[in-house]
Amino acid sequence: MINFILFGPPGSGKGTYSKKIVEDLGLIHISTGDLLRSEIEKKTDLGMQAKSKMEKGEFVPDETVISMIEGILCENDLAKGFVFDGFPRTVAQAQAFDTMLHKYNQSIRQVIAFEVEEEELISRIMARGKESGRADDQNYDVIKNRIAVYHSKTEPVKEYYKAQKKLSVVINEGKIDEVYAKVSSILSV
Ligand code: ADP
Repeated sequence: MINFILFGPPGSGKGTYSKKIVEDLGLIHISTGDLLRSEIEKKTDLGMQAKSKMEKGEFVPDETVISMIEGILCENDLAKGFVFDGFPRTVAQAQAFDTMLHKYNQSIRQVIAFEVEEEELISRIMARGKESGRADDQNYDVIKNRIAVYHSKTEPVKEYYKAQKKLSVVINEGKIDEVYAKVSSILSV
């Protein structure tokens, strides 16, 4: 399998480039945010537990997302590979993920970390919220909290993969196609 992680703060482009990579390489897109929103829509117990956390811009428990990911890996054991978007989001998730991948004889090939100025992030998220109606994309305080949580809990994950020599940083400013050309060149190494 060929597995990539797209990493970065909320609104930094993980979803946008995941779609392009999936189309180009035939991989499966796994977004923990999308999976959790679908659990909320289906009103499952997991969804109900996640809802209050997500509305505040806080994380759902590590164990919840880790077992969701493991379920998908098991169901798709013949897949060509995966693009993980929004996971892992804490160092504990990254460690548990490595243990899990090892168990299935899999590994992460590369982590692409997107960077965008904070003001630009906020305006992109607000614009996305207007289009999609997503509640956590429309409230300024929730957005600020998500960015703060990103800095305190998620950014350290960068160091984790840097130590494994798997981290590539991409500045996602400018035209999507131009940025994607950089992403593609990293994927094809
Ligand atoms: P964004 O990256 O723009 O914040 P996502 O759709 O990836 O949006 O995530 C939305 C929310 O879902 C997060 O704010 C968080 O509450 C929850 N979430 C998503 N992925 C995880 C994860 N791996 N661990 C914990 N919570 C998560």
